Amino acid sequence: MYNQIVRSLALCLMMFALVIGPAASAFAQDGQEESVVEGGEAAALEGASTALPDVQDVRVSNTPQRARLIIDLSNTTAFAIASLSEPNRIAVDVRAASVSDVRTAPVAGEGLIESYTVELAEPGRARTLLTLAEPAQVQQAYLLDAVDEQPARLVVDFIIDTPEGFAARVAEDLAAYTANPDQAATPTAPGGSAIEAATLRPLVVIDPGHGGIDNGASTPSGIHEKNIVLDFALRLQDVLVEAGRFDVALTRSDDSFLRLEDRVALARENRADLFISLHADSFQQPEIRGASVYTRDENATDILDRIMADRENKVDIIAGFAMPEMTPAVVDILVDLMRRETRRQSFTAADAIIHQLEPAVELRRFPLRQADFFVLQAPDVPSILVELGFLSNADDISNLLESGWRDRVVDALARGISTYFDGLEVAGIE
Ligand SMILES: [Zn+2]
Repeated sequence: MYNQIVRSLALCLMMFALVIGPAASAFAQDGQEESVVEGGEAAALEGASTALPDVQDVRVSNTPQRARLIIDLSNTTAFAIASLSEPNRIAVDVRAASVSDVRTAPVAGEGLIESYTVELAEPGRARTLLTLAEPAQVQQAYLLDAVDEQPARLVVDFIIDTPEGFAARVAEDLAAYTANPDQAATPTAPGGSAIEAATLRPLVVIDPGHGGIDNGASTPSGIHEKNIVLDFALRLQDVLVEAGRFDVALTRSDDSFLRLEDRVALARENRADLFISLHADSFQQPEIRGASVYTRDENATDILDRIMADRENKVDIIAGFAMPEMTPAVVDILVDLMRRETRRQSFTAADAIIHQLEPAVELRRFPLRQADFFVLQAPDVPSILVELGFLSNADDISNLLESGWRDRVVDALARGISTYFDGLEVAGIE
């Protein structure tokens, strides 16, 4: 119950009339549409623009298979996404008053996105236009509220698409626009709320262990844990996104180094509903093998107690629930309740995952375990750590390197996650 309250602000998805008002530049070849855009909407939006947020920063990261766009905003806002051809582009529009840094920039490295521009396409509409190196599609898009120092953000993940798939999407977006060009005016229609369809889905944060200079464990042939668990994480993300029920974030989606506290902070700041750290470590005894799932040791108090040492932190933990007039004693009680509830949920999630792994893969003896892993310390995010197997055991190594086995494990993990959230729904928690 406490988690529900805390997380109720977690994710707020707002779309505005898909595409297309903006199309000033998007469909510029067609003068008719352009005139529609410059008519009603531009003037109408101007009046409202004082309430609109500012675009503070735009970042794009890239691999040959996927890309991520992050738009920092002074507040959450509505957005729309459209695919455009000749050349292949994806436009991401947000309702915003200004853009702090108008720019055209190449994207470093070889990847899906070649370059992008950021501009105020018209009053009240900031456009990020991504020029694609390969056909791409949106895998997921979600808004995150501002937390502490971190501004609100729109996150859009892209994955590779077929040329046919991309062409179909372009045609669909163009048809939607030509069928109803004055849709562009709906954002400012009386009442104004027709454009904001909010949905709330659980956020699952997947944490591939290690990364960058930290290789984690390694096989005798020199294959590193960090790369194995990243592949699992990306596969799990795909399966969970495909299910259409979750928002999914990764603590890292490439070979970058991340401090343990940053992994925990990412889950906490985004008010994740479940945090799953993936590992395939080594063990002193090479005969030990099989998958296992850890929750945090009940008796592990050191770091957590330090985090909770001052009232500020405690209030932060129950943010959204604590009233200003609450006494420290009341805050203590609430924090304690929340910690217990989080532990209970972590255990339930671990149990659900073990249950699904059991028929699919070899498990370690006593597969549900407790240990004082640093990444499991968030007091307000149910957190588990999955040891997929051990790189100190030859049988586990051959499993971990086999694509079919990876898929089987990922499917079992996804089923476990789903049954865990089913249970929460039944209990009325989510
Ligand atoms: Zn590890």
